[in-house]
Amino acid sequence: MKVSGFLNTGASRPKVNTNHLTPANSRNLVHEMIGDNHVATSLETPLREDAFALSDEQKMVLIEDKFRDIMNILGLDLNDDSLNGTPHRVAKMFVKEIFSGLNPENKPKISVFENKFKYGEMLVERNININSTCEHHFLPIVGKAHVAYVSSGQVIGLSKINRVVDYFARRPQVQERMTVQIANELKRILNTQDVAVVIDAKHLCVSSRGIQDEGSSTITAEYGGIFKDTRRREEFLKYISINQ
Ligand SMILES: [Zn+2]
Repeated sequence: MKVSGFLNTGASRPKVNTNHLTPANSRNLVHEMIGDNHVATSLETPLREDAFALSDEQKMVLIEDKFRDIMNILGLDLNDDSLNGTPHRVAKMFVKEIFSGLNPENKPKISVFENKFKYGEMLVERNININSTCEHHFLPIVGKAHVAYVSSGQVIGLSKINRVVDYFARRPQVQERMTVQIANELKRILNTQDVAVVIDAKHLCVSSRGIQDEGSSTITAEYGGIFKDTRRREEFLKYISINQ
């Protein structure tokens, strides 16, 4: 089984004997280790079937209530004017902003155009802002995405690439999954496999907690079609490193 294999081969962690644990405790430990090591379990964002049974407004009311509980449990005085509006602000931010990309209704509607100029080289859009959230710790993932494609006869507006990146960033994420989701969506829209996506991002859960490494960043890449060819991949990597 994948999970027990992971438990047994974790290089940086001591081998853990889980025999003495009850199933529930054992499950919690496994989940904690998956999260701490940022292991993605699927390509699709794990969503429940009834994920959108509640309206955004209903979700905000419920989250506001639960977040007020969290703050109360932490011992914060919600009568203080500075804290009073926080549960509502957090609820609105979750639903309408940082997790708005969970809802397929918010997926950018992108029209493609005929490649009239017959531009046949790669088009690179670099330094696209990534503002995402680690799904294991609910802390920010902040960085840049670099995207390239070669037209198969269709092109899209440049800002539309940013919109696709932003849509998939605005959900609880794992960087590897986000990279592949963006690439797959662009392949679908542009009707080509010739898409490359590189993401270079800092995870606040690595810099502000746990190992507390301020300097490190994580790079992930997805290369489709012609970008599997070393020369084309190197050309792309050269473009994204110009003046950086
Ligand atoms: Zn994390």
